[in-house]
Parts: sequence; C-alpha cells; structure tokens
Amino acid sequence: MAQDDAEFQSWVQQFKQQAETQGISKTTLERAFADVHLNEKVLELDRRQPEFTRTFWQYFQSAVTEWRIQRAAMLYRKHRRLLDQVTKQYGVPGRFLVAFWGMETNFGGYTGNIPIIESLATLAYDPRRSDFFSNELLEALKILDQGNISLQDMKGSWAGAMGQCQFMPSNYMRYAVDGDGDGKKDLWNSLEDVFFSAGHFLAELGWQREENWGREVHLPKGFDYALADGQTERSLQEWAQLGIQLADGRALPQESMNAKLLLPSDYRGPAFLVYANFDVIKRWNNSNNYALGVAHLADRIIGRTTLSKERPDDDEAMSLADMQALQDHLNWLGYDAGKPDGIAGSRTRNALRAFQKDQRLPADGFPSAAMLKRLEQVRTPS
Ligand code: CA
Repeated sequence: MAQDDAEFQSWVQQFKQQAETQGISKTTLERAFADVHLNEKVLELDRRQPEFTRTFWQYFQSAVTEWRIQRAAMLYRKHRRLLDQVTKQYGVPGRFLVAFWGMETNFGGYTGNIPIIESLATLAYDPRRSDFFSNELLEALKILDQGNISLQDMKGSWAGAMGQCQFMPSNYMRYAVDGDGDGKKDLWNSLEDVFFSAGHFLAELGWQREENWGREVHLPKGFDYALADGQTERSLQEWAQLGIQLADGRALPQESMNAKLLLPSDYRGPAFLVYANFDVIKRWNNSNNYALGVAHLADRIIGRTTLSKERPDDDEAMSLADMQALQDHLNWLGYDAGKPDGIAGSRTRNALRAFQKDQRLPADGFPSAAMLKRLEQVRTPS
C-alpha cells in the first residue's frame, strides 16, 4: 500500500509538470495535490462488476417513485420562473430539467462526497482508462484555477461527476453557465447555475425545441416484435399503419415525425415510440432505462398518467451466468445464439425469437428469467 502510494506520488509529480505546461497555475497545482493519495475505495468501485443486471421494472420502480414524482412536481412549481427563463433561452422545458435533477442527485440532495481531484487522480493513475481520466483531471484543475469552487467543496461521485447535475469536468468546462451572474459557475450551490447549465448542455446535445421525447403506445396482437429494437425508424404514419395506437387506444397523432419503437421489457411490458429528444437524453447518459426514467418523471410532473402496464410477478434480474445459460440452451436446441458470452446481442435475440415462434409463444426475443426456465424445461423435460 505504502509502495503503491509512493509510485502514485511520483506519478502525481509528473502530472503536475505536464499540467503546468497546459497553463494550470503553480499555486493551484500545489494546493490541489497537497493532500491527495491513491484512493483504494475508488479503485474498488471502478472494478466492481454488478452480479445482476437490473430489469427495466426494477430500475424504473426505484427511479420513478411516488415520492420522487411528488417532490419533482412541487419543485417544478416552486422554481417555475427560473425554469421558464432557461426554457426561453435553450428550448428545454422545465419539467425535463427537474427530471434530470431528480434522477442525478435526488434534486441536489446527494451530490457525492469524494474529493474530485483525488478520485480523478486515482483513476488517471490506474492504467485502465488513464487517458480519459487524465483529461478530466486537467479540466477539473482548470475549474479550480478559474475560482469557480473551493478545493474543499469540490466533491462528487467516485467517477468524477460533480454538482447537482453530475457534470464531468470536461462537460463542465464546455457547458457550465453562470446563471446568477456572480462570476462563478457553481453547480454545487447555485440553482440558477445548475438549471442554466443543464439547459445549455441539452441544447448543445441537440434538443428539439418543439418536440416531446416520445410516448407510450399500444401494440396490436400479432405485432412483429423484431421491429421494436429501438433502432428501426419509421414515420408515425407508417407505425399507425402497422396497427400501433396510443396507450389509451386513441390514434397516433398525424404529425410528420419519425420515431423508433422501444420495448424495454418483454411483450407484456410497455412499448414506446421515441423521437429525437429521446436520443438527446441518452447522450447525457447512454441507457434506455435511464432515459425512460427521465422522460416518465418529466411527464408525471405535469400530471400525465402512469404506465399502462404493471410489473409481472415473474420479473427477475438475470445474472451473467443466467444469460450464458440461456444462450447455451438455445445453441443446444439448434438456435444459433453465438458464443455464450452473457451479452444479449441481436444474434441471441433472433435465436430466442425463432425458439419462441416454434413454441408458439409471443416472439419478443426478450431474454428473461421466465424464458430461461422455459428453455430449461424444453432441453430437459421432466
Ligand atoms: Ca454563478
């Protein structure tokens, strides 16, 4: 351990020299690294592999709770004037700004306690993603150098995300805005700075002013679930011709818009037609579940309805080993799922869909604990 820290400290010395040539002041560098050590906890968190991948329902139910919806709606009303100013400038409706804020830090309630310079220095020293984190560390030093926040208050997540909207330092340098005009971009303490910065970030990510994110829809019986891959893009008119309606049974709107179809759980779960702004949400955090969480929270803030489907009793997380077993069963039964790598790519989904068709099951190609059981039964009938 002491050995590790000695090596780490000599790496820090080198990095400081490099940072100085990049224009960071000597004073900032001396102060920033005065008490920095290799943070074992950060390394441990970085190497942690979750044993189970949470299902859509598990994620959704923990992210969009009743408490969070009510709190979001209350805060939306409370900060309406400020939010409207941001919307006017950047085109992003306030309900989305509040939804991101709620998802990222529970409305500023938890912004992370790890000193940013230490977490980033640790990850930059570690060879795994050294280039990425060295750059983030340099950007973090610029933030300090500009006097936006004190060293002591510059805390965040173990991976270096900072403030009430969890910006990485490079995004902070590119997109943070001094919303309250006090000369600092303080994403920890100034809500004006937080909302203006989030709005600016989303606008730069490509937010479409006049558009929504998408909507829940109803798929007709016998629908070809292979189209619900989140990638196939069709016009709303074409989707309507395939029998898709709004979740409440009304017709899709007659707008000349393209949309992709998303089925984040199996065929019993909700389906969504998503527009360009859904991709913008994913550019903030590249996860369908996260994006659906933000989107649904934003909808609920203005009183839109709950999802039309409920979590089934057999909804269970799959481990990597479960996913590999599912692929192995498919291969054994003659459906080519490829190498059992535990990753449900299009080959696995296609193989599962073929199996489901032969079993006269709805062919959603969705790998689930229920499908794993079914495959086990077919492979070894009792
Ligand atoms: Ca400010």
